[in-house]
Amino acid sequence: MALFGGRKTINVDADILVIGGGMAGCGATYESRYWGRDLKIVCVEKANIERSGAVAQGLYAINCYMGMRWNENQPEDFVRYATNDLMGLVREDLAYDIGRHVDSTVHKFEEWGLPMMRDPATGRYQREGKWQIMIHGESYKPIVAEAARKAASEVYNRIMVTHLLMDQRRPNRVAGAVGNRAGQSHAVVDRDAMVAVAVQQQAGQARQAPGDGLQAREVADGVLRQ
Ligand SMILES: Cc1cc2nc3c(=O)[nH]c(=O)nc-3n(C[C@H](O)[C@H](O)[C@H](O)COP(=O)(O)OP(=O)(O)OC[C@H]3O[C@@H](n4cnc5c(N)ncnc54)[C@H](O)[C@@H]3O)c2cc1C
Repeated sequence: MALFGGRKTINVDADILVIGGGMAGCGATYESRYWGRDLKIVCVEKANIERSGAVAQGLYAINCYMGMRWNENQPEDFVRYATNDLMGLVREDLAYDIGRHVDSTVHKFEEWGLPMMRDPATGRYQREGKWQIMIHGESYKPIVAEAARKAASEVYNRIMVTHLLMDQRRPNRVAGAVGNRAGQSHAVVDRDAMVAVAVQQQAGQARQAPGDGLQAREVADGVLRQ
């Protein structure tokens, strides 16, 4: 029997492919829809975005909130803190950008229904330390996942991405991925998409093993020819 004999293969085309539906992946999916209203946006997750990733069980705090509207911290304070904390190994422009955008992201979570703890005296978000604010976070991931689900054209749960596909025309550019659904012998292939990898380990792996993409393309070409 051929290697892929009896397996069901699904080919999915997309304009934007988000790999990994944790907090970053759900955020990338939501943001992609904001900037790409007419685009086909596909998110692929090895578990289920409802409860996947490090936030799965819910958190009790959001580790970073500036509080710019109350003049509690400004992005430049965050850059100074991050630079000290990481002994200077920081892209200050990127840290500034995170600081600049984090408050509006947190406000969105509240708008979507995340219960926030507030100081009854001031009405401000309740803090623990300088940067952290307290939340009732059991529902954190389902709330963010719901926004991603509404934003995505398609979400594929329980697909483990095993290989990234390199673009045949543009060097050093990932254009798709191959994955498997365990137990059901079924693969997803996507080509010619902009790819956002929201998987910490996977991103590291791609840097460490640049040959993987080439090998994956050969695998995918083989799958597509069947
Ligand atoms: C114990 C713990 C407590 C924490 N507490 C707090 C807190 O109180 N406040 C706070 O702000 N932060 C907290 N954090 C940090 C926060 O949870 C993480 O920074 C954040 O969840 C990271 O999100 P991410 O999307 O980058 O990664 P992840 O959440 O790890 O998401 C990656 C996703 O990719 C999927 N994936 C992986 N490999 C593949 C593959 N091959 N194919 C398809 N999908 C794949 C995973 O299933 C996962 O859903 C905590 C973290 C931990 C571990």
